[in-house]
Amino acid sequence: SGPPPVTRYNLNNVTITNDPVANRENVLVLTPMARFYQGYWDNLLKLSYPHELITLGFILPKTKEGNAATIELQKQIAKIQKHGLEKERFKSIIILRQDFDPPIPSQDESERHKMANQKARRASMAKARNSLLFTTLGPDTSWVLWLDADIIETPPTLIQDLASHSKPLTVPNCFQRFYNDEKKAMDERPYDFNNWQDSPTAQELSSKMGKDDILLEGYAEMATYRALMAYMYEAGADIHTEVPLDGVGGTALLVKAEVHRDGAMFPAFPFYHLIETEGFAKMAKRLGWQATGLPNYKVYHYNE
Ligand code: GDP
Ligand code: MN
Repeated sequence: SGPPPVTRYNLNNVTITNDPVANRENVLVLTPMARFYQGYWDNLLKLSYPHELITLGFILPKTKEGNAATIELQKQIAKIQKHGLEKERFKSIIILRQDFDPPIPSQDESERHKMANQKARRASMAKARNSLLFTTLGPDTSWVLWLDADIIETPPTLIQDLASHSKPLTVPNCFQRFYNDEKKAMDERPYDFNNWQDSPTAQELSSKMGKDDILLEGYAEMATYRALMAYMYEAGADIHTEVPLDGVGGTALLVKAEVHRDGAMFPAFPFYHLIETEGFAKMAKRLGWQATGLPNYKVYHYNE
């Protein structure tokens, strides 16, 4: 027996086109997961992109909650990969357990969103996303779809629809359904405020900040006057309307794999006073890749 065989990949043969199904392009769906939501899983199974081209990657914290979520996730995976129909099965699935602890034990929405908790929480999320990305991105990956574990409703054609724009980073508008007590009916409201266009006020604020300070969006204490995609939704308008973005969220985000291969990742430290997904958009931009938002294309976040 001679030396071990060498596997060669020509990255220029890995296409990234606006018709990824026809071109048999591989998609990596990456999900940081603190809790398992059945709605997320059911929605994922309904995605009409050919499952044999989809690799799923998960990272879960080693907390009590993370342990419970891992068990539930594995149970659901076994159902599909072992007993599901051929066309339901995914190409491969990777589960990672985080090697560091989250900074705050509580995961309640109000606690999570307290401004004082943001820097440590977002830094920890950035590290989780980077660990997941750097251990799963393969030489044959064309696209990376970031999809949070609490995104419970998207069109089944999510991947095809976002990819059809053929942009380096494409972000739908993340909303949340809720019961409106005044109207006595179900209603919906914008959820993800990390998709924004920069403003002179935010620029001014960041120019006066200490080097380790970060700008946050969605806090009255820190009015940035950025234009938020969350508020750009127009009922009945074209779902494929595009707007340029300077900051993005990670609830649902399609990225051309070459953007990550170029080195764009989620800074766990202030990068131009931005962190995690917002820092990622900035880093991508510095590498020449512009983010695009789709204000009228909605996906839905779980309501606690
Ligand atoms: P929010 O929607 O902005 O409040 O953020 P979430 O708390 O929902 O977090 C975003 C995503 O990361 C979700 O998919 C969570 O399940 C997941 N997540 C939250 N905390 C952790 C963590 O400590 N480790 C990992 N691996 N995932 C986490
Ligand atoms: Mn969430």
